[in-house]
Formats: sequence, structure tokens, C-alpha cells
Amino acid sequence: MNVLVINCGSSSLKYQLINSDSEEVLAKGLCERIGIDGSAIVHQPAGGEKTRMEVDMPNHTKAVRLVIEKLTDPQAGVIASLDKIDAVGHRIVHGGEKFATSVVLNDEVLSAIEQCNDLAPLHNPANLIGINSCREIMPNVPMVGVFDTAFHQTMPKKAYLYGLPLSYYEKYKVRRYGFHGTSHDFVSKRAAQILGKDIKDLKIIVCHLGNGASVSAVKYGESVDTSMGLTPLEGLIMGTRSGDIDPAIVTFIAEKEGISAEQVLDICNKKSGVLGLSGGVSSDFRDLGEAAAEGDEAAKTALETYAYRVAKYVGAYAAAMNGVDVIVFTAGVGENNGDARAKIGKYLGFLGTNIDPEKNKLRGEEVILSDADAKVVTMVIPTNEELAIARETVRLVK
Ligand code: AMP
Repeated sequence: MNVLVINCGSSSLKYQLINSDSEEVLAKGLCERIGIDGSAIVHQPAGGEKTRMEVDMPNHTKAVRLVIEKLTDPQAGVIASLDKIDAVGHRIVHGGEKFATSVVLNDEVLSAIEQCNDLAPLHNPANLIGINSCREIMPNVPMVGVFDTAFHQTMPKKAYLYGLPLSYYEKYKVRRYGFHGTSHDFVSKRAAQILGKDIKDLKIIVCHLGNGASVSAVKYGESVDTSMGLTPLEGLIMGTRSGDIDPAIVTFIAEKEGISAEQVLDICNKKSGVLGLSGGVSSDFRDLGEAAAEGDEAAKTALETYAYRVAKYVGAYAAAMNGVDVIVFTAGVGENNGDARAKIGKYLGFLGTNIDPEKNKLRGEEVILSDADAKVVTMVIPTNEELAIARETVRLVK
């Protein structure tokens, strides 16, 4: 089957066409600045050149049409016609408590997703626009929604409730949901597979360290805790997001700076994290590493503070599961940045991780970092959310 995987943002649309039998990516790309001046499509067929074409994209429907044109182009296309797309898998950010698993999309399901919009006002409406555009252009192609929150729906109450009046949970569903679920699920299953063990026998901590970042505790195959909350702002220090802070800071800063609480939250989302901590050097760990190597003290502090927060979560989740067998690093930083892994690893020696500094130099590949007699196996596993979405799509469509 050929599965088109769509990840739609408010002004962007990322796509991959995957042959689900060989699990090969046939083509991938990105439509950027949809609805804004200077929109463009970046497209790359397997083994071919990446091209960028500036083209007017007033809305997502036009973007989807362009993607189809690229995929079916008589010269550079990878499929003969639209009929060769057998299913579409959509990434959806928030499924609230309604969706604990992926789902075939129909009118009823779409209205249930719409009811989750106020939990993710920046993401879910954009996801729905992408779905509706695809349905308009491919009305007879089955579509599946895969939720970032679904994997974490197994969390027990003690992990997902905040210490707030219960009525806020009952009335508004204010609770911890967690995100990056597709990645935590994919990577924890792959860890068990690599180790030749049944996931039902393992306590795994997954550190998904990308621009957005979260840690999860996966006990016997189920998420029992994760660091993101009602929104993806909670938890780790991220590229531009603050992660955990004392909520009283919001009104304190608002008053001091003469701005609204909403503006402070915007700063917590877009100008904080390692970007903010480094005094504005960068949200990118490569830039921060270079700045730190040149002696920039704020960049060094940002990297150390980041690593310390990750290590504290790993320690907490080892306690939450009463032990840990496997720690996995994944996503941009987790897969590629040996320095960040080494800084985090420094705090984890007490667990018996025994990370080998030579193996820790490897980048972007599956590798066991710990030595053979380590009590806790530490690994790097590249995540692949698109492949996970394609697999889910095939599972449901079949
Ligand atoms: P992601 O959101 O998973 O794409 O991760 C993005 C982050 O990964 C960026 O902020 C980079 O700092 C980091 N990253 C990606 N590639 C590398 C690399 N080769 N070395 C160090 N950091 C990297």
C-alpha cells in the first residue's frame, strides 16, 4: 500500500509518501508559508534532488493539490496517478480523553476532534484544515488520524491529575495529557525488539529530545507518566519553551514588565528554554555547543541546566516505575548530540548506566551506549513518527 502521511500546521504542511510493504519513503516534502506571501513547496523524491518552488498557496487545499501534482508529475513523479494513494495518515496533536488510539476518520470522528480544539488551539484546527483539504481532493481514499496524546492515555490518575480543585478536571478536563506519544510508542517498542525482549517485561524511560522535548515512563509497554502536561509547555527545558516553572511567575513578570499574562505565556513558549537561558544565543544545540566551546558562559549554563532537568526526570521516572531496565535517547538532540547525552549521563551513573564514551560519539544511528554488564541498558534509537503513522494507517485501513 502507498500511504500519504500528512503533518499539517497552521501555515505549513509536511508530507511523506511511504510504501508500507517495503517501508520505503517514495518522496517527502514541505509546503511552507501557506496563506502568507512567499509560499513555497520543497519536494524530494527518493534518491532524487531536493527542489524548492515558490508558488502561491492561499490555503491548505491548494497545498494538497500541489503535493499531488509533485507526486504524480510525468517526469519527476513517483506514482502514476492519484489512484495510487491507497490511504492517508494524519498526525493530530490533541485527542483529549476521547482518543486512546488511532482512528479511521469520518464525519462523527471529525466533530469529536473539533471538540478537543480548545485544548490545543494552535494545533488541532490546523490539523483539521489539512484533513478537510485531503478529503475534498481524495473523497474516496480512507483516512486515519494518529494522535500525539493517545499513547499516554494509559497514565493512571495519580500521574495525570494536577494538585488543583478537582472541579477543573471534571468541568474542563484540565489534566496532564502528554505529547510525542507516537514517538515514545515507536521507540520503546523498537528498544524491546533490538534487545530481543518482550516489552511486557521491561521498564523503559524514553527521552525524546528535539526542539520540543519530553520524557516518558513506559512500564510493560504502557505509558505510566510523561513530562508534558495539558499543553506541550510543561516538563523539560526545550529549544524555546521554559518547561516547568512556578505558575506564580506568570503574574509576577506580567506586573513587573507591564504586559499581560498571555504575553508572558507567549514568552514561555517562544523565547524561553535554552534560547532564553543562553541570553538569546540560539535554540539550536549545534550553535549552543559552538558558543559554549568558545567560552560563552550563558550558553554553557543553558546546556548544563537543560541536562540537569532531563536527568531529574529520568530519576523521577525510575522511582515512578520502581526501577528501570532501559533508557533510550531519541529525536534531534537525543540522536545526534553526544555532548548533551554525556552531560545527562553524568547524573545517571548511580543507576548503573555505564555509558561508553567512544560509543557515545556515534550519531543518528541505533546503538547501545552502555557496556555489556551495565545494570541499565542505555541506547540511541532514531525516531520515525511518519513511519509509525503509516503503520497505524495500514493497521486500521486493513
Ligand atoms: P528535532 O525537533 O527532533 O528535529 O530536533 C531539533 C534539534 O536537534 C535542533 O535544535 C538541533 O539542536 C538538534 N540537532 C539536530 N542535528 C544535530 C547534530 N548533528 N548535532 C547536534 N544537534 C543536532
